Amino acid sequence: MSECDHNCEHCSANCASRQGEPESFLVPENEFSHIKHVIGVVSGKGGVGKSLVTSLLASVMQRRGFKTAVLDADVTGPSIPKTFGITEKAEGSSAGILPVYSKTGVELMSVNLLLEDDTEPVVWRGPVIAGTVKQFWEDVIWNDVDYMFVDMPPGTGDVPLTVFQSLPVDGIIVVTSPQELVGMIVEKAVKMAGMMDIPVLAIVENMSSFKCPDCGKVHRLFGDSHVEEIAKKYGISITANIPIDPEIAEKCDKGEIESCEAEWLSPVADMLAEKLK
Ligand code: ADP
Repeated sequence: MSECDHNCEHCSANCASRQGEPESFLVPENEFSHIKHVIGVVSGKGGVGKSLVTSLLASVMQRRGFKTAVLDADVTGPSIPKTFGITEKAEGSSAGILPVYSKTGVELMSVNLLLEDDTEPVVWRGPVIAGTVKQFWEDVIWNDVDYMFVDMPPGTGDVPLTVFQSLPVDGIIVVTSPQELVGMIVEKAVKMAGMMDIPVLAIVENMSSFKCPDCGKVHRLFGDSHVEEIAKKYGISITANIPIDPEIAEKCDKGEIESCEAEWLSPVADMLAEKLK
């Protein structure tokens, strides 16, 4: 990150001395980290598959030859280490906390990699939780990262606000279920990103359909998809649909998410890859 040279005409640093512009709350990354892009993965409510999409996107981009990382900002409901089958704990050095590497080399940091017993609940006040997320950015030595995916807690509360203000988020990917789209909860997340001037890069509808393993017929258990409608309304050009697939749930439970092909996410992965061209 560049340093302020007190001449706002040519200096790009985001600092309080920038005349006439709102104060920046950006937090500096660890001095040993090298992070090119930060992508937030958000949802309006819990249980729609946000962590699944975060893990799949990191795995897909890693397979495509990019260096990826996941910052688990879902501090009270962390599921990233389990999905990647990680049981070891993170270690530290005098320079900072070291991320844990997945089987294919994805750099990971989550509160569950720091807790002695990962069934211990995190019963912390909001500012402490938000402070933990900032520490994951400032105190973790992220090695060499092309794409960092931030698994946000659901909704539009304190932590998403902290991430949007403190980290240089390039854009967000919104994960929804067909029901959530009908309920318009997702639009709150999209509008929050708009208020923070953060682009919505893609919208992923999870649990769109279910293919009967016996007769092969595709059923839309939660009714018709509304993803295209919402995407059009907000000018979001990239959409993806993930079916309900018992194999996905099994791979999540067994910590084998990296072996999931996840071809449904190709439109999103193609768009992200374009960013580094
Ligand atoms: P969130 O992060 O939105 O709370 P998760 O990604 O943790 O949701 O998903 C909740 C549960 O649903 C997980 O156990 C996951 O394995 C399962 N799941 C999510 N999407 C699918 C899907 N398309 N098919 C099968 N199981 C799924």
